[in-house]
Amino acid sequence: MRAKLNAILLAIMILLTSGSLPNTVEAKTADVTSLASTMGKTVICIDAGHQSKGNNSKEPVAPGSKTVKPKVSSGTQGIATGKTEYKLTLEVALKLEQALQKDYKVVMIRRTNNVDISNSERAIRCNQAGADMTLRLHADGSVNREIQGMSFLYPSTDIPSTKKIASQSLEITKVLSKAVLKETQATSRGLIPRSDLTGFNWSTVPVVLIEMGFMTNRNEDMKLSEDEYQDKIVQGIKRGLDSYYKVAAKN
Ligand SMILES: [Zn+2]
Repeated sequence: MRAKLNAILLAIMILLTSGSLPNTVEAKTADVTSLASTMGKTVICIDAGHQSKGNNSKEPVAPGSKTVKPKVSSGTQGIATGKTEYKLTLEVALKLEQALQKDYKVVMIRRTNNVDISNSERAIRCNQAGADMTLRLHADGSVNREIQGMSFLYPSTDIPSTKKIASQSLEITKVLSKAVLKETQATSRGLIPRSDLTGFNWSTVPVVLIEMGFMTNRNEDMKLSEDEYQDKIVQGIKRGLDSYYKVAAKN
């Protein structure tokens, strides 16, 4: 009886070990504790775009793709404020973390500027943390200083790697964009499908990228650095997520 039990236990051990080996290797970077303490809350992964120094080494733009792109760039810069995009995206990301913490489990890709995390790595970390969705925060830049407004990017339906997440990403984008535009009164540059973004193509969970405005437009750049305007962006995102995930309105 005892020998039989031991044999069964051994078989289970072998099964578990062989089955979970590839995951174990990849899980090195996963936020395992946050996954364990989720307690049924919706998990939002926040990726503040860019970092203090870009990394020009290349990585595949999608799993299995021969097309490569720089791992992560340093982003644009404010024409009036001189502020870098990576600083701005982190400011808003940290405020958003605060705003969401009570009702959601929040996973942060970064809390400081001095990191080196490629765009594929960012997506993979959100996947492994068990995110229900990933929100990427960015700001725009253009040689045309007149251009301003917000864009809402989501993964394209026509490439294999994001086929599974494209339609839900679009649904979230629709709700989010409506709420953020209502709150900020920003000019909308629309909802734009993208097939060329590494951070989308490596994602296995729905993902939205908000280009919060143009740092190369003097007015918008200054507005993006105002506390009050950042709070509006954050409130808009929170309202959008609340309505998509049916979290009861708090006020
Ligand atoms: Zn950017």
